[in-house]
Amino acid sequence: MREYKMTETKILTRLICNSCGKVIALRGGIPLEGVCAVRQSWGYESERDGEQDSFDLCEACYDRITGQFKVPVTRTEQSEWL
Ligand SMILES: [Zn+2]
Repeated sequence: MREYKMTETKILTRLICNSCGKVIALRGGIPLEGVCAVRQSWGYESERDGEQDSFDLCEACYDRITGQFKVPVTRTEQSEWL
């Protein structure tokens, strides 16, 4: 006997670095390299109140952009992988 449950899933089919345009390889909707995904919802204190920005960066662009920061990125080792 088999029972099924109908589900609707969203699968990532294309991922592009917003900075350099590099196409990030995917397998089963999962990126095969490190990607920085930024999702920013602007609040009432912002001139962008109610807007949501999102973009993705490949690891090279992440390193290049964050390397220009006057204060470096806070980096800690993750003790547990989920
Ligand atoms: Zn890039």
